[in-house]
Amino acid sequence: MDWNCKNYHTLDFELKKYFGEKAIKLSINGGFTCPNRDGSINTCGCIFCSEKGSGDFAGNVDNSINNQINEQIKFLSNKWKSNTYIAYFQSFTNTYDSVINLEKKYTQALNCPNIKGLAIATRPDCINENIAKLLSSYNDRTYLWVELGLQTIHKNSSDFIRRGYDLDVFNNAISMLKKYNIRVVVHLILGLPNESNHDILESVQYVCTKGIWGIKLHLLHVLKNTDLANYYYENNMKLYTQEEYINLVCDCIEIMPQDVVIHRLTGDGKRSELIAPEWSLHKLKVLSAIDIELRKRNSYQGLKFNQEQK
Ligand code: SF4
Repeated sequence: MDWNCKNYHTLDFELKKYFGEKAIKLSINGGFTCPNRDGSINTCGCIFCSEKGSGDFAGNVDNSINNQINEQIKFLSNKWKSNTYIAYFQSFTNTYDSVINLEKKYTQALNCPNIKGLAIATRPDCINENIAKLLSSYNDRTYLWVELGLQTIHKNSSDFIRRGYDLDVFNNAISMLKKYNIRVVVHLILGLPNESNHDILESVQYVCTKGIWGIKLHLLHVLKNTDLANYYYENNMKLYTQEEYINLVCDCIEIMPQDVVIHRLTGDGKRSELIAPEWSLHKLKVLSAIDIELRKRNSYQGLKFNQEQK
């Protein structure tokens, strides 16, 4: 395996291989809402969800999609020289609208200069045949992936976080997206209360049997103004130490197949919004500690992956 000196298959590596240069994601707020917030399922949202629908780094919804993209390109062009951008519809549920409106918004993004791909974050219960067909039409003309926020395969935990759908719904959404050859990325949260490391590894193992293209592992972190924050204070909730988390992440990496693209391995709270754990703010330090631990173990992605699992 050759992942540009990394011991795991990063998104950066995958996109450079495809585009021939670094591809930069621009986080868009497409002005959608979420069935878990508008009352269709619930009004409270998932227990960890921030006011911005888990899109704290996304553009300002009051700006048009074009303006959000232009502003971010301007801002990021000082940091990276590249002509390849992916429009990432991140905030709330980005397939929760009529097909006509979805098409309008995705096309707006795709028509901006140098946008060479689309990433769409959503809930599995907001994927149906018509939406999958629409997504498939983009799949034919751009680099597309769809992100599903599963977080856990365990029922007690999904009830606790008020996810609002069952595992079967996730399985159906995956099958539908795969039928149209759409790349699927699955989000999992590491550190939910009452989940053991074994439970987490089971979730990783399970989603890796579904033929997913990518995975995002999020450290459970507590943000201000969330119900998780109240729970954290009221229950003296335990969070991972950096050392515990790094060990667990490396265990997860070892059981993933080598073709699964790793999009994220840390938490991503805004400094101004984060309550705990404080160490999660030092993202580069955490990523470097993961590299060091894998090297120390003489290990890499897939070392403990069992072919029969797939
Ligand atoms: S599905 Fe996403 S946007 Fe909706 S409440 Fe949960 S985390 Fe927030």
